[in-house]
Amino acid sequence: MDLKQHIRHVPDFPKPGILFYDITTLLRHPQGLKAAIERLAMPFADARIEVVVGIESRGFILGAAVAERLGAGFIPVRKPGKLPARAIKEIYDLEYGKDALEIHADAVEQGQRVLIVDDVLATGGTAAATAQLVRKLGGELHGLAFLIELLALGGKSRLAGENVYSVLQY
Ligand code: AMP
Repeated sequence: MDLKQHIRHVPDFPKPGILFYDITTLLRHPQGLKAAIERLAMPFADARIEVVVGIESRGFILGAAVAERLGAGFIPVRKPGKLPARAIKEIYDLEYGKDALEIHADAVEQGQRVLIVDDVLATGGTAAATAQLVRKLGGELHGLAFLIELLALGGKSRLAGENVYSVLQY
């Protein structure tokens, strides 16, 4: 199954000059959704992953399905102010300005084997911040899995030393 065929490219979204990789056209396709989850989870089938950490918001959709497939639990990483219980925050740099992500302070147990999942690896800032949150809580980060990697943006270099896997590359 050619997953790329089902990913919609939207120019100038959310702002001029950005080419947005829209996965909603893949998610709505029954075989496309199944194949995407299988290909994201497959490399980690024997990795004894205990929890998948998904990044708001498309990482929730993919991450929860991957977790179920791996027999793991699921933990959300969210934009500030969304999580109800006590959370820890990681602030990271964007191209212009800063952003932040949060995780519940008691979400990851000491030494738990963690897989981070998101839809797109672009500059890697979001994923690097999420990796920091997992480590701050004492999690053992086994790897990071993305449906799409935008090679020109060099996200992997911000995740040096990590086990980074992507299903599709552009
Ligand atoms: P980055 O921190 O630059 O790696 O950006 C990753 C986050 O932004 C992911 O959560 C993606 O969902 C989103 N993102 C960045 N660039 C794109 C893009 N061109 N198309 C779709 N989503 C993107």
